[in-house]
Amino acid sequence: MLKRMTLAALGIAMSMGGALAQDYPTQPITMIVPFSAGGPTDTVARLVAQVMSKDLGQQVLVQNVGGAGGTLGAGQVAQANPDGYTLLLHHIGMSTAPTLYRNLAFDPLKAFSPIGLITAVPMTIVARKDFEPTDAKSLVEYLKTKGSEVTYANAGIGSASHLCGMLLQEAVGVQMITVPYQGAAPAMTDVVGGQVDLLCDQTTNTTNQIKAGEVKAYAVTTPERVAALPDLPTTKEVGLEKLDIGVWHGLYGPAGMDAAVVSKLEGALQKALADETVKARFAELGTTPVAADQVTPAALTSELTSQIELWRPIIQAAGTYAD
Ligand code: ASP
Repeated sequence: MLKRMTLAALGIAMSMGGALAQDYPTQPITMIVPFSAGGPTDTVARLVAQVMSKDLGQQVLVQNVGGAGGTLGAGQVAQANPDGYTLLLHHIGMSTAPTLYRNLAFDPLKAFSPIGLITAVPMTIVARKDFEPTDAKSLVEYLKTKGSEVTYANAGIGSASHLCGMLLQEAVGVQMITVPYQGAAPAMTDVVGGQVDLLCDQTTNTTNQIKAGEVKAYAVTTPERVAALPDLPTTKEVGLEKLDIGVWHGLYGPAGMDAAVVSKLEGALQKALADETVKARFAELGTTPVAADQVTPAALTSELTSQIELWRPIIQAAGTYAD
């Protein structure tokens, strides 16, 4: 009897699952961004979410859950119901967290259903506009002598701004004073306001301020210059070859999502990244969507796996950890 009831219940659950996948989505979807509103990850998420909403016929609502370098928001999604109504748009921090955090509550490769890669965003080293060094070379000299007095803003351990700062400190051989924020948007506000000296963050958070002269810009962290900021030298050009970082982003749901739901989201993400308005806005902010064949669960899994391996020895060499 018990066995029969269990099988019957299973049958209902399976048919509900089928109906769910077919009709999905029937209600608004929450896209969690694990950093503050108005920052670079949030900017990418809102652009993408707008077009995905149109395609899916339901609102994709961005919710900001900042803190602990993105691990709080990611942890929340890892625990969520895998029904396709809670998603995570996260960046490179997904691959550095397993090495940086001694007690990380989730395994990035097991706790999520990957949906697709989105974009890789260059970073820029910027400072309050009255910061003394006038160019990247004088910045390096300045940091070598006075670096321990320089305040460096970041979005918490494991954030891209933290990683960039870590690489800069390694390159120069100095330890700056770190000032953590819940995201790069409040960090940038304080750089513009002159409360903190330095920030290295994605072009999606710095291009407008650089162009408006609200901050001083030193270099872009990718091997190639960025079309939106053509006058800015690369870190390689100024002798900081090891400071090479592009911030890749991916879309995930919790582990255990129905394959048909993942596929619907993958298609909606692909459409969003092919959208001319999204592409134009990305270009203005110094980035481009990844190639269409990268907007897949397989490409995201492969990137995540290789990036975890890439960052592990770098983080171990720097010896920076969090609990
Ligand atoms: N870009 C930031 C960082 O990782 C986070 C954010 O989007 O606010 O440093």
